[in-house]
Amino acid sequence: MTPDNEVRFRACLDDVAAYKPGRPPARTDGRPTYKLSSNENPYPPLPGVLAAATEAAAQMNRYPDMGAVDLLEALSARFGVPTSDLAVATGSVALLYHLLQATVAEGDEVVYAWRSFEAYPIAVQLTGATSVRVPLTDDARHDFKAMEAALTDRTKVVIVCTPNNPTGPVVRRDELLAFLDVVPPNVLVVLDEAYREFVREPDVVDGVDVYRDRPNVAVLRTFSKAYGLAGFRVGYAIAHPTVVAAIRKCALPFGVSHIAQAAAIASLGVEDELLKRVDALVEERTRVVDELRAAGWEVPETQTNFVWLSLGDDTVAFAEAVQAEGVSIRPFPGEGARITIGEREANDLFLSVARAWRT
Ligand code: PMP
Repeated sequence: MTPDNEVRFRACLDDVAAYKPGRPPARTDGRPTYKLSSNENPYPPLPGVLAAATEAAAQMNRYPDMGAVDLLEALSARFGVPTSDLAVATGSVALLYHLLQATVAEGDEVVYAWRSFEAYPIAVQLTGATSVRVPLTDDARHDFKAMEAALTDRTKVVIVCTPNNPTGPVVRRDELLAFLDVVPPNVLVVLDEAYREFVREPDVVDGVDVYRDRPNVAVLRTFSKAYGLAGFRVGYAIAHPTVVAAIRKCALPFGVSHIAQAAAIASLGVEDELLKRVDALVEERTRVVDELRAAGWEVPETQTNFVWLSLGDDTVAFAEAVQAEGVSIRPFPGEGARITIGEREANDLFLSVARAWRT
């Protein structure tokens, strides 16, 4: 390993070490515990999805379909795009890694808003490229003027997380289209739409419409959130065939298991029912946000399945207070906490601590 590589490797390990996966807190008093720290869907799998996965599990002595042909065809029918414009991988985070692996190297720059999804700096660092983090505005939104100013001739990729994890706001139509107009056509723009199905703001463009006229736009989506398949690891990319071909070259062979492929196909078959659950979560989101605001909290607009509370130096103490009620949330020390919209009982426990905190 060269000294440069070694420094990079160690810095990367530090970033990975700083990441603490959320776990439900352990309790000894017999009361239930809840996990509101990973933006998971609180609903268990629908019977048809579970049955499809179980049936596929009976063939676990076989390798899965490496080309995920049936899943690509199901996605193609769902979105009205050719299969040449689709790739699947073990979660949308894997697709991001593949895209970066295919497009950037040492000396290149990757621009994204910050704070945003924690995987971005880690994924960029693994490629040897440099992250250029552009602070969000005071109301937790992308600052596209500043992002435009951050573009240099070393910029190879821009990541736009919309709606933004962990703060919640979605990027509006005009601001996104105007930004895409100023990004040079040889710069890849990754639209990370992991929470797309939770968006209710009407003034938004759909990545699937955007990529059609813009060969430098890749859209990332996932079955982990709205479809409740986080444990199966399936994400998909929608992009022009050259971008998709690059992803496929980088993807691990047989990455998406046939159990995961079967569950994803079955989920598309019962999408109406799954999207009703999303509606219920969005309603619950409105209730949680309203109650927080009524208690005096400032909550950024959220179009996701979580809320963001800006807590500064109180972040860790607040997370510990919620944890004492049996609920884990995701603290970002010194900044704030992200709380997933989960089961109603879990949300109520979190709200009881949040109300008491303000009095
Ligand atoms: N993008 C964003 C913004 C996310 O929040 C997440 C999950 N936390 C992902 C991508 C990755 O999702 P997955 O790999 O499960 O598809």
